[in-house]
Amino acid sequence: MKAYRAAILRFAPDHSAIFDEDGLLVVGPDASGTQRVQAVGPYRTLGPKYPGLPVEHLPGRILAPGFVDMHIHYPQTDIIGSPADGLLPWLENYTFPAEKQFSAQEHAAEVASFFIAELLRNGLTTALAFATSHPTSVNALFSEAQKNHMRLITGKVLQDQNSPDGVRDDTEQSLLDTEALIRRWHGVDRLGYAITPRFVPTSSAAQLRGAGVLASKYPDVWVQSHVAENLGEIAWVRDLYPAARSYLSVYEDFGLLRPRAVYAHCIHFDDVDRALMRDSGTVAAISPTSNLFLGSGFFDYEGADRIGFGYGLASDVGGGTSFSPFHTMRAAYYVGREGQTKPGLSLNPQNLWWQHTAGAAAALGLGGVVGNLAVGCEADFLVLNPQATPLLARKTARAQSLDELLFSLIVLADDRAVERTVISQAK
Ligand SMILES: [Zn+2]
Repeated sequence: MKAYRAAILRFAPDHSAIFDEDGLLVVGPDASGTQRVQAVGPYRTLGPKYPGLPVEHLPGRILAPGFVDMHIHYPQTDIIGSPADGLLPWLENYTFPAEKQFSAQEHAAEVASFFIAELLRNGLTTALAFATSHPTSVNALFSEAQKNHMRLITGKVLQDQNSPDGVRDDTEQSLLDTEALIRRWHGVDRLGYAITPRFVPTSSAAQLRGAGVLASKYPDVWVQSHVAENLGEIAWVRDLYPAARSYLSVYEDFGLLRPRAVYAHCIHFDDVDRALMRDSGTVAAISPTSNLFLGSGFFDYEGADRIGFGYGLASDVGGGTSFSPFHTMRAAYYVGREGQTKPGLSLNPQNLWWQHTAGAAAALGLGGVVGNLAVGCEADFLVLNPQATPLLARKTARAQSLDELLFSLIVLADDRAVERTVISQAK
């Protein structure tokens, strides 16, 4: 066992933050050797209970849960910040050419290695990631995550139509590959598999049906896709499925809405869609930097909360513009504020932070496992330095409340504030 003494940020079951200005975090292995939070609380009361335990004292630092990214594309690492005229031209001109290269094992491994290092450097300790349609890309990312003892979920993209040569897959083979990858990787160490149809337009009905069959055969495997991001995309889906009630309902018809199904964007929804999300246990990966960058629209927080479906934050790199969870939380604030296309509201800092940690973990079905520093959670955590830049130091020193402190970090911090990322390791 080992203990860390510093300020500690964690979350209560009601989503509010608990902050110990002088706290103690005790971590140690469980029976299987996984490092977990054994105790957490004020140093004053907890310290005397652990006499003789080695304590690393980190004055001026904040221990916080590792961030959870609910939607990111590792093969798009190199096309971050590529200019395009919205989603569909961006896919055609940048995304598909970049993704073609992942049939090559060496390329996939090189990008996977950079990608995992970049996640950790930015304080992201859990991610649900897209690979490409090539099984090599999935093997490369799982291997790299496994080497780093990281909790990571990914899957082979399914796209057997409306896709160029080099990324388009074969309907029957794609489903065989998916099942083989589930059997090889799902539940191994901290890894999980996600059945990954790219989005409705790029999968045939047969492929979506097959994905739905696998989703029901393997209920603890994740499902990830995109929905209702962009108006051009929605019109395309309407042409393909004129009888469907909505874009979301196409996924329902193929058995792809269920707990552990995670859909990126969920912008252009009506209340019937929202109720379908809630009733099926499906959750949204809100991707605010991507939605602002591509001009897709604004996630409606008021609608989501009024109907009551689950959600959390995501970077959506490379449509998103940053790996940094601070940038993502800040963009989520902008998206919440927008009040021309939907009700505008001011998301409070504790809630923004929750959406990218405990909230995202809960949405993924990993509540109490990661995303928090509650007793029993896997010990993935960050050492944050609120003095990392001159302006951040000046501003955080003036914070009069926890909300002011957290909001200063949300607005001003980036990877420079992440001094250390600690990953729970077996043994
Ligand atoms: Zn995406």
